[in-house]
Amino acid sequence: MKKWNLIIDVAKCEDCNNCFLACKDEHVGNDFPGYSTPQARHGPRWINIMRKERGKGSLMEVAYLPVPCMHCDNPPCMKAAKNHAIYKRDDGIVIIDPQKAKGQRGLVDACPYGAIWWNEESGMAQKCTFCAHLLDKGWKEPRCTQVCASGALRAVHAEDAEMGRVIETENLEAYQPQHGTMPRVYYKNLYKYTSCFIAGSVAVDTNGTLECAGGAQVRLMHGLENVGETETDNYGDFKFDGLKEGSGLYAIEITYKNYPDKRIEINLIESVNIDDILL
Ligand code: SF4
Ligand code: SF4
Ligand code: SF4
Repeated sequence: MKKWNLIIDVAKCEDCNNCFLACKDEHVGNDFPGYSTPQARHGPRWINIMRKERGKGSLMEVAYLPVPCMHCDNPPCMKAAKNHAIYKRDDGIVIIDPQKAKGQRGLVDACPYGAIWWNEESGMAQKCTFCAHLLDKGWKEPRCTQVCASGALRAVHAEDAEMGRVIETENLEAYQPQHGTMPRVYYKNLYKYTSCFIAGSVAVDTNGTLECAGGAQVRLMHGLENVGETETDNYGDFKFDGLKEGSGLYAIEITYKNYPDKRIEINLIESVNIDDILL
């Protein structure tokens, strides 16, 4: 049977919040019996766009991570719910039963992704429904994916085997897989949010004038392991991305024409931009 999945490309998200607004437009003030009760206007973010800054100065990047309910295949929220108030549909969507979940505030803490929100006014635990009320009426996708102009959000209705091939081909991964919940939301380019980089700018002094060292060879060592090699661009810039935060001691080794080789050691805690490396 075909099931619903969501693919989120971190490299394409521009933090425009169209998805968030479409979700509000669909759910604030609207009751969908059997699916959801009205979402509060202020407070809850059924699709929550988180941000992460990496680096500094000229090599600073910001990545945005939209986080809705992951519609997990092994959902701890479902286990925590009393009276079977949370259930999983055959098409993969996880639904909080609006009536049975009334008063169960503890459900908010049962989700490791923080995807369940408490509605004080109605006394309900609520979350993203994958717009199941629309899909059941024949819609081909939920409201948030429909309005994402950059193509960062994509709903996929596929057999698990077919989805497995998409995951492999597009190199998709789960966010925080350590929770063991088997999410049905997959991320592309997640490293932009979860990993860090070492970048720098190499220059040489030619008769008192600083010039960019384009085409310099740069090697990244982690202990005795050669982690990667690259070449500086025309501005003398280089970058090694996808490194693990707090992963210890690295060394950058730079070779350029007849200039003396340079070695810089870095204790990697978070992304680093080494400005003006003068050979
Ligand atoms: Fe990102 Fe798309 Fe949402 Fe805009 S609509 S914030 S680009 S996911
Ligand atoms: Fe439940 Fe949270 Fe998984 Fe959604 S993301 S199914 S609320 S555990
Ligand atoms: Fe909101 Fe529907 Fe998108 Fe879920 S799928 S975040 S309920 S618009």
